[in-house]
Amino acid sequence: MPKKRKNRGRHKGDKGKEGYVQCDNCGRLVPRSKIVRVTRPYVPVDPQLAKELEAKGAIIPKYYVTRNYCINCAIFYGIIKVRPEEERKKKQSLGAKPTSK
Ligand SMILES: [Zn+2]
Repeated sequence: MPKKRKNRGRHKGDKGKEGYVQCDNCGRLVPRSKIVRVTRPYVPVDPQLAKELEAKGAIIPKYYVTRNYCINCAIFYGIIKVRPEEERKKKQSLGAKPTSK
């Protein structure tokens, strides 16, 4: 049978069963190895205001938020992209380019 992707879209290997994780955006249940996990810094203050405050010496906390996305949502937010047929076989690293949400 022809394979669309080398790892069948997951990184489970021959592990058998594994748990499900809920997508943080739409709530869909996705196998743990299929989830797209992104950690992004989250600053609770408006970026322009944060810059001004930091210039005055204030310390603004930066929280790191890890989110799990299903493939649909990951594509919607531009974290991963639809790739041409041949490119799908290659291993893909998550794009480091953060998109503001
Ligand atoms: Zn989703």
